[in-house]
Amino acid sequence: MHASVARKPEARLTTAAPPAFAGSFDLPTRQSGAFHLSPLTVSEFGEHALIARITARLTRPSWVVVGPGDDAAVIEPERGSLDVLTTDAQVEGVHFDRRFVPPDAIGHRALAVNLSDLAAMGACPRAALLSLMLPGDFPMEAVDGILDGLLTLADRHRVTVVVGNVTRSPGPVIVDVTAIGAVRPRRVLTRAGARPGDEVYVTGQIGGAAVGLRQLQATVGGPSGVATDLQVCRYLRPEPRVRAGLLLGRNRVASACMDLSDGLADGLRQVAAASGVGIAIDATALPVDENVREYHQARGLDSVEGVLAGGDDYELIFTIRPAHRRRLRAVTRLMGDLPITKVGTVTRDRRVVVRTPQGDRDLPAGFEHFR
Ligand SMILES: [Mg+2]
Repeated sequence: MHASVARKPEARLTTAAPPAFAGSFDLPTRQSGAFHLSPLTVSEFGEHALIARITARLTRPSWVVVGPGDDAAVIEPERGSLDVLTTDAQVEGVHFDRRFVPPDAIGHRALAVNLSDLAAMGACPRAALLSLMLPGDFPMEAVDGILDGLLTLADRHRVTVVVGNVTRSPGPVIVDVTAIGAVRPRRVLTRAGARPGDEVYVTGQIGGAAVGLRQLQATVGGPSGVATDLQVCRYLRPEPRVRAGLLLGRNRVASACMDLSDGLADGLRQVAAASGVGIAIDATALPVDENVREYHQARGLDSVEGVLAGGDDYELIFTIRPAHRRRLRAVTRLMGDLPITKVGTVTRDRRVVVRTPQGDRDLPAGFEHFR
């Protein structure tokens, strides 16, 4: 195929430079019988067969003009919409630990964190680009698992994986995803629109994923398997709030919006800084599961502090003008079971403070890489 496509940059960050699933349509497929010799490692399987195996699982809607098998993908933009682009990687040892995060959860998380970013912009997700960096001894079964998790979530949100790349990793497993969404002009949500007097809301419940992660960490080397409770699930398979983000944008409810990847404290700081305002949070209003509160109390920890600092929730925080409360109520009804909780107010004073019955206090630090 010789479609007029933009060339990929020649300088690549990888040691080997495999083309993006190139030539994969000529290679053995799942039906060829070559894949029943498990458990195989990625090295034994080989790059081309690996690419073919991944490509065989991808769907191709009509707006994908050139799909997997060429140097790059070509897609038709959505009419009347702006493209929204985001990228985020899951790195073994930084974002997940293979000892307690199953392959499907690695795949799910890799896409979920990107869909969450699109949701925060009010965008409808459309396409994703996948780059897999795998050590040679990585089992093929686990590759299938990563794809299971990623493609199941993609299906649920009608996201098409349009192109990808596989590279040998000298160490950690890395799943790098770029996601593309569409949003109408003037429906874009950003972090920068909050004004003094606006109300601050959060979707769902917060603090659960961080507790789930700690529960999982405690099971490493333990006698039994992993507990499958709500908090563990929140960490392993976060649900990106795609519908909530779309509704907030389309109905012009939110003045500012952001997704929570690195904790509520970090989110509040980012929105406040981008909008040039302060925020006062009511500690007693935070939507926290009883289990999460008990988890902290049982360990003599401050649950407000834990909930504000804990990351990985992937809920949305957003602000609204008080005059838009009725709009918010209408939108909330469309969100179904997802709770929406008012947690604070935007202030002119640029500090971000937590109001507790014992007085105001400063926010705990959120997670930050390289610190
Ligand atoms: Mg984000």
